[in-house]
Amino acid sequence: MPRTREYLLIEPIAKTFYPPLGLLKISSMLKDRHKGCNVYHCAGIEVPQGVVYPDKIFITSLFSWDHKYLLKCIDFYSKLYPQSKIIVGGIGATLVDNKKLPSNIKIIKGLYMDAEFYPPDYSLNFGRKINTSITFTSRGCRRHCNFCNVNTLEPDFFIKEGWEQDINYDYKYVTLWDNNFLQSPNFDKDCEKLIKFNKIVDFNQGIDARLYDEYKAELLSKIRIQPIRFAFDDIGYEKALLKAISIAKKKTDTEIRVYVLFNYNDTPEELYYRINLLNKEGVLSFPMRYRDSIEKNIMIPGKHWNNYLLRAFNLTLLFYYKKGLIKKDRKAFLNIYGNNEKDFIDRLYKIYDYDKTIKKTKRGF
Ligand code: SF4
Repeated sequence: MPRTREYLLIEPIAKTFYPPLGLLKISSMLKDRHKGCNVYHCAGIEVPQGVVYPDKIFITSLFSWDHKYLLKCIDFYSKLYPQSKIIVGGIGATLVDNKKLPSNIKIIKGLYMDAEFYPPDYSLNFGRKINTSITFTSRGCRRHCNFCNVNTLEPDFFIKEGWEQDINYDYKYVTLWDNNFLQSPNFDKDCEKLIKFNKIVDFNQGIDARLYDEYKAELLSKIRIQPIRFAFDDIGYEKALLKAISIAKKKTDTEIRVYVLFNYNDTPEELYYRINLLNKEGVLSFPMRYRDSIEKNIMIPGKHWNNYLLRAFNLTLLFYYKKGLIKKDRKAFLNIYGNNEKDFIDRLYKIYDYDKTIKKTKRGF
């Protein structure tokens, strides 16, 4: 009797709420191509119960700065199963230089097209409790924002027909990971599908405020979106963003959250201006520090920033705002960040100094 094929799927470190979608798709692909095969999975370094000797080991990667975990996994499994073929993919592996990865493995850069059109195998949970379907109705993005890696990860924009096969009807939520849902020529058609599903939908990567108009807002308002996410990556988008917020407020009661990129080309004054504006608008802002795709988990200041300001701003998000989300309360905002740009920067330096003093006291000198 031929030996049952065996595959091992590894997530080096589980840092996010979502399971590794690429591996869930690979599982469906393997089960379809090799009927009766055994697919094992785990997060971190371990050997799942039942594994004898995998034919292939697929290892994913997410953040480039978690590179050491990826290397540890490759090292561990290649020593344990020297005859198994190791295939490494995902965002981290795509963004780091090939020379930083061992030469005895196969590296998949960008999308793994063999598995791309398979639905996720939700029977694999990688240690999480999954309550949402995850899907893309499109890949890539036609905009080429300098700070964004989408053009490296998914250089071609294409729409995905049949994405509804990714929906698990037992789950209450649907998470869309489209980079730019509003660019899709299937926008109307896909909205109709989402309306029919009647699930709670999260456009997790945000909705492009520059493309959000009355017509699109009307159609989107029929979907149970929670929350509406926009981005305010650059001060130059102020007009478009304010218009989008005003339309969204008219069309829906859903909570509005805005991603605010900082530490790229912006100044700390510009960050204050943007978060202050959003606070005055009564919407939540979610500051996101720009990070280079490097292999180390270190803070690198943008050209108008320094480590003191970055550290202090990070502390405000940690201590005053749960999950880094700046809430609506105007009084609290002014108490923390001050009344103007200068005040903001002065306060950040004071927070940094105060934090340093506490650390010294704790250490006893
Ligand atoms: S619009 Fe968004 S997804 Fe598209 S390139 Fe810009 S930041 Fe990236």
